[in-house]
Amino acid sequence: MSEFVLSHQVLVLNRLWQAVNVVDVRRAFCLLAQDHARVIHEEDETFRVFNTMEWFDFSRESEKDGDDLFIHTVRQKIRLPQIILLTVFDKLPSKELKFTRNNVFERDKHCCQYCGKKFDRKELNLDHVIPRDYGGKTSWENIVCSCVPCNMRKANRLPHEAGMRLIREPSKPKWRPFVSTIVRNPAYKSWRHFLDVAYWNVELDEG
Ligand SMILES: [Zn+2]
Repeated sequence: MSEFVLSHQVLVLNRLWQAVNVVDVRRAFCLLAQDHARVIHEEDETFRVFNTMEWFDFSRESEKDGDDLFIHTVRQKIRLPQIILLTVFDKLPSKELKFTRNNVFERDKHCCQYCGKKFDRKELNLDHVIPRDYGGKTSWENIVCSCVPCNMRKANRLPHEAGMRLIREPSKPKWRPFVSTIVRNPAYKSWRHFLDVAYWNVELDEG
């Protein structure tokens, strides 16, 4: 079983058929093995739902479809799922957006929040608007992307002390983090229907 196959992406839907996550095949098979998910399979724009055993049977029937769609185990070939549907209650989408470096970059659209210019990720720092020495917290409201020159200019001061100004007041974004990146780049055609729905249901920041 190759590592490459196991890293294939699988879209995860919650029980309301809303896209909530993307996982690799390995994780998808774990969820299926624990009976925490079903496979959704698109065929001619309709969606069929399979439980794990049904999916194994279906894999056997569809073996002629080309090797790239399958994962090879000792006993049989199993078709790679593209979408799974969660069946367990505790896997409803988390609306809570994680405070991560990645999500701060996404929120600030890779723009320095002082000069407004767009930068490559590795050229941006995370800046405490109110410096830690002044009691500034590491939080959505006090962390922004900043380019190296702006960061050096501001140093350990408040923005106005350095004669600088934020282009936007930082706050916690309302969107779910995975949606914006995956919508732009779906791994399979079968995902589109669910990503369209996810896209239109994303809560937008006002203003
Ligand atoms: Zn800058």
